Parts: sequence; structure tokens; C-alpha cells
Amino acid sequence: MWGRPSGDCRSFVKKTATRTGKDKLPEAARGFGPRWYEKTWRRSTIDMHIPDWDPKFLSEFDVEKYVDAFVRSRAQSVLAYAMSHTGLFTYPTAVGRQHAALQGRDVLGEMIDTCHRRGIAFEVYTSVIFDRWAFDTHPEWRGIDARGQTGFEFGPDSRYGLVCPNSPYREYVRAWTRELCERYEFEAVFFDMTYWPGVCYCEHCQKRWAGEVGGELPRIVNWTDERWVKFQRTRERWLGEFASVATGTVRRYRPGAAVEHQSSTFPASWLKGASHPLVVQNDFLSGDFYGGPLQGSFARKHGGELTPNRPYVFATSYSTTLIDHTGQKSEALLEAKASAAIADHTAFLFIDAIDPVGTVHVAAHDCMGRIYQKLAPYYRELGGERVADIAVYHSLDSKFDLRENGRNVAGLGESDTHTPSAMNVADRLITNHLPFTIITARQLDQLARFKVLILPNVHHLSPAEARAIREFVRNGGGVYASGGSSLVTTAGRRLKDFQLADVFGASLVKADWSDRVHYLTPTGTGAADFTGWEPKYPPLSKGHGFEVRARRGAEVLATTTLPWPAPQPSLFSSIHSNPPWVQTGNPEVVFNRFGKGRVVYCASVLEDIDGLRATFIRLVRRLQPEFAFEADAPAAVELTLFAQKDRKRHVLCLVNFQSQMPNLPVDGIEVRLRLPRRVRSIRQLPDGQPIKFRQQKGVLTFTAPRLRTLAMFALNHG
Ligand SMILES: [Zn+2]
Repeated sequence: MWGRPSGDCRSFVKKTATRTGKDKLPEAARGFGPRWYEKTWRRSTIDMHIPDWDPKFLSEFDVEKYVDAFVRSRAQSVLAYAMSHTGLFTYPTAVGRQHAALQGRDVLGEMIDTCHRRGIAFEVYTSVIFDRWAFDTHPEWRGIDARGQTGFEFGPDSRYGLVCPNSPYREYVRAWTRELCERYEFEAVFFDMTYWPGVCYCEHCQKRWAGEVGGELPRIVNWTDERWVKFQRTRERWLGEFASVATGTVRRYRPGAAVEHQSSTFPASWLKGASHPLVVQNDFLSGDFYGGPLQGSFARKHGGELTPNRPYVFATSYSTTLIDHTGQKSEALLEAKASAAIADHTAFLFIDAIDPVGTVHVAAHDCMGRIYQKLAPYYRELGGERVADIAVYHSLDSKFDLRENGRNVAGLGESDTHTPSAMNVADRLITNHLPFTIITARQLDQLARFKVLILPNVHHLSPAEARAIREFVRNGGGVYASGGSSLVTTAGRRLKDFQLADVFGASLVKADWSDRVHYLTPTGTGAADFTGWEPKYPPLSKGHGFEVRARRGAEVLATTTLPWPAPQPSLFSSIHSNPPWVQTGNPEVVFNRFGKGRVVYCASVLEDIDGLRATFIRLVRRLQPEFAFEADAPAAVELTLFAQKDRKRHVLCLVNFQSQMPNLPVDGIEVRLRLPRRVRSIRQLPDGQPIKFRQQKGVLTFTAPRLRTLAMFALNHG
């Protein structure tokens, strides 16, 4: 019997609070209710994927020192290991195998007790699908790619052991999840790596497909082939069903605990299979990201809308990348990342990695502790609803690249030509300081929240999505759409015309997703939108573009000009380039009025063209001239706005995130706001310094004091 005596952590925390005085405890110590995560903004983890084939590994692991690192980082909650990618457990499991160095000790129990004693909420880390022990012990569970090999993208010699979630492995997951839940009291379980590391062709997947659909598993990628698309939707459903084994077991045996699965995969490509069936297996979403400020901003808005409960959790590492064990992000960079998370009202999870012998790099946690301490007063100001006039539509069904149609899945990468377009839109909106968010089909019934909806090269759109978008425009909404948006259904059926042709004011003549050089030549009507470009010197697109015709009543703002045709490699008109040559008159950009709304349709993916950043914003302004906020600020400054009805105020954040750290401070940023209610005072948070402002004809204007990294303002209505 491996059970351990465990008291009720909540009553224990209460006792501790009485003894030491409430004010001296970290916020988390005030009790972990079932929704403990709602106010848990500061989180930490220490990666612990250490094998046990060398007796030195984890030989110096010390629970007190380990938990002390979390205390140093001032974390309100921790994510600590019950097991890892190695598949080895930190407690004496009866289901799997414990790490040899721990010699039967219940290290997990000790970690939970020590964290609770120190007022820190405990989330149990587990790894699924990436399980080296299971892979080595059960070859029949292994995932097999289209070439018949294991390891998927990491190759057959990978250090990771990748098993198939359709194999009997899922019963093993069910068993250890139950064991965890029956033995320990914790606040949450995190199932890391709940995604497809590749397209699996193992015997279990083949058998399921044959039984559920019939025939052989498809091997040729084709996003306009209904059978291939059915395979992808099935992979998404299978993944959600696998996740439900884990989530359902926690719900059954530890119903008070929250559940989350790895969620950085939702903006990632189709290959990983993360879609709506997986979302519903989470209480809240979190994801780890290692890119720049745009990726972070996109991920937090995306996750903040997709998560079943807020806050979304944005995670990043102390190390510059996960493969660099000793790399260090500068304190200024970490502070900028944590500040940007605050601006998006998301929790922050700090990731460090344990040393093979089990020691912890204390300086990393001291660094994070200084940042969390500095930022702590801001966290109590967070919450409410984001004010976003513009919604960028990210379709979880469209995370692929139609140029890959006809290719064998063996050796295929993760190309996606929808998400980067959505990110480019986000980039244009951030740098022009306009209020936006990223939505998915989850927000389909909430479109009335927004004034403008952007459909960036949305490859697949369901009839229900098309209907909701049509109604949105009919009722006065503005839509910007590009490329093949609405031509192919989410079942993979390619239609004769766009589902939204009437809304776009454009009908399809010819679809072609291949890349080619062409030019977007402004017409007289579109001249102002293309300020800076002339018909003789039009902007170039290297991506795909559709041939369309404008429908009655639509205005053409730009037409296609073809380059010098270069009939033979040696025949050129200019040695480096193929300049504009043949004006076709085919519509490139069409402006249409539909119902009470306005629409811009671009046959090319205009938002991907760097030289048309300003044009893109002018086209958005055609749809909606007034926004909740605007600002005169450098491109590196992002603004966010949240409405807090219960506190009778709006909270505005300015975050300065430059490409080189430390940030140069910015002076004299003028902010203009149009809020539904009159503002009585503005206070800079957290100190409460009053800020002077003007309010005229519904527009409030103020100049922000010097911005270093983060500035927060309460716009008080009461
Ligand atoms: Zn499989």
C-alpha cells in the first residue's frame, strides 16, 4: 500500500494563516478554492526530465531546496513533477516505474506537503504521448509514421519515446492518473504533450480508421479532398477523446482539481491535431512560447478567448531556448515578457530546468523573484473583459497550406498559410495601436461584440461560420477577407464560388493557391488607400492570388498587373526582377456594402505584404473609422484595454517591448479613447497618481508619463 496520510490542505492553510498572520503570507496561502487559479498570476515550474541510468542523476535532489527555489521566485503556484517525458515517476507508483535515485521515497508527496506548508498551490506535472519508459517497455504502443518509423519528426533515434494515443497506452494513462488522484491532494493536473507528434499509421490507428470510416488511412495530403479532411477531423476528435480519458479520470477521482493539457499547440499547425475537441477537456489553457513579442501577444489573445476559464497562462523559460541548459534571458527581457502578459491580463509561468544531479540554479529564481516582486502590485488590478473593436478570425480548421495538396504525408513539414496571415494582421494592429483580439469558432455567437472582423486567408469555413459572418455584416459589421476565405468548407468540399461571394461583392473566376509574382495596381477609387503607390509603380505580391470578378455594386480599389512574363530563362526585361508589364483589369481589392455593413475583399493576401502595412490599416478604417483607443506611439508600444464593470472603470495598459533590451524609455505618448461612459478621473496604477486629461465630443485625450516597460491607468467612471 503506497498511500500516504494527507490532511485536508485547505484546513491546513487556514491554520497556518491564523498562526503567522494573513498579511505576511503570499496571496495563494489564503486558501485554494476550486477556482484557485483565477487569482494565481505568478506561477513557476522547474523542468525535471531526468533519466535514471546513471546513479548520479537526481542523487542530490532535495525537496526543501527545490521548493525554496519556488519561494524565491515568489510563485503563488507551482507545476511540479509526478512524472516526466522519461516516463519515470517521482513517487513509488504501482502502475509505472519510479526513478531509481528516489529509492522508493514519496518525493511527490513531500513536494506537495512542502508547497502547501509554504502557502503555494500545487499543480501536478505529467507527460503523455512523450513517454520514454512506455515506449521502451511496450513496443506495441509506439507511434509509427508514414515511412513505418518511430520518432516522427525527431527520427527513429530520438531521445524522446513517442507512443500512440490510440494504442492500449491510454489505459496505462488512465491507471496512473487514477493512482495520482486517489493518493494525493493537489490543486490541478497538467497533462503535457497532449498532441499528435506526427501523422500516425500504427496498427491501432489503422484499425480504428477501418472500423469507423472504412478502408486504408489516407496518405496524400489534399485540403480540398473530403476523405483527407475527414482524416484530419478524425485525428482531432481522437486526440480530444484521448484527453478525455485523462480529464475524465481526474474528474472522477479528484473532482475538486482543475485539469489542463498542453495548449501551445492551438496556434500550431494541423499536424498536432489540437482543435475544439481538445479545448473542452481543459479547465483553463496554458502554453509555453519562446518567440518574440508578436508571438506572445498573439498567443495570449488567442488563448484568452479560447480558454474555458480565465486567466490564460503564458509560459516561457529563463533560458534563451529549452535546448540551452545554461542560457539566461536578461532580467530586462524577462520583465518585458511578464509585463506584456500583465497587459493581456494573463498569468505568467516561469520555466527553469533542474540539473541532472537534481540541483537547482538559485540565481534564476532570485531573478524571477525580483521581477514578480516589482510587478506584484499590478496583478490585483487585473480582470474584466477585453475591449476589442477588431476581431481577427483564427480558424482551428485552417492551419495548413494548400500548396501541399497532392504531396505524400511522409516527410511533410508543418506548413500553414493561415496562421502567419493572422499574425501579420495582429502585427499591423499592434503597431498601429488599434484594439483587437484573436477569436476562433468559439466566439461565433459573440460577433456582435466587435465592429470589424478580419478573415485572413481562412482556408476552410463551415456553412454555419459563413452564416454567422453574413448576419454580422448585415447588421452593420465590417469584414476584411483575403485569398480563398470561404471557398472550401470545413469538410473539405471546394465550392464553385465563395460562400460569402454576396457579402464580398466578388465571385470566383479561378482559384490558384500557388505562389507567383504579381502586382496590385491601385485604381482611381483606391488611390487614397494605396497612398505612396502609383499605377506605374504598384506594390508586389509573391504569394497566391485568386482571379475574381466584381459583383454589381462593388467598387474595385486595385487590379492585378502581371510581371514581364519571362518566357525563357535568358529572356528578361530587367536583369534582377520581372517588373510590372501586363495590366489585366482583374479585381485585386473590392469594396462592397452589404446590408448595413461594409466589406473589403482582397484576392491576394494583402496583409502578408510588408509594403502594404499602411494600406491594410486604411482598408480597415474604411470599415470602421472610430476605435475605443488610438495612440501616437512608437511601433514597439502595445496598448490594451479592459472593462471592469464591477470596479466602474476601464484599465488601459501600455507595454514597451523593443527588439533590443533594455528598453529605451518613451516620452510623450498621446492616447485617445472613446469610451461608452464619461471618465471622472484617471489614476496611474498601482500608485494612484492622478493624470490630467481632456474630454471633448466623446474623445478623451491624455499624455502618458514616461514609459519604461509597463504603464497601467485606471479610467474611473464612478
Ligand atoms: Zn497510432
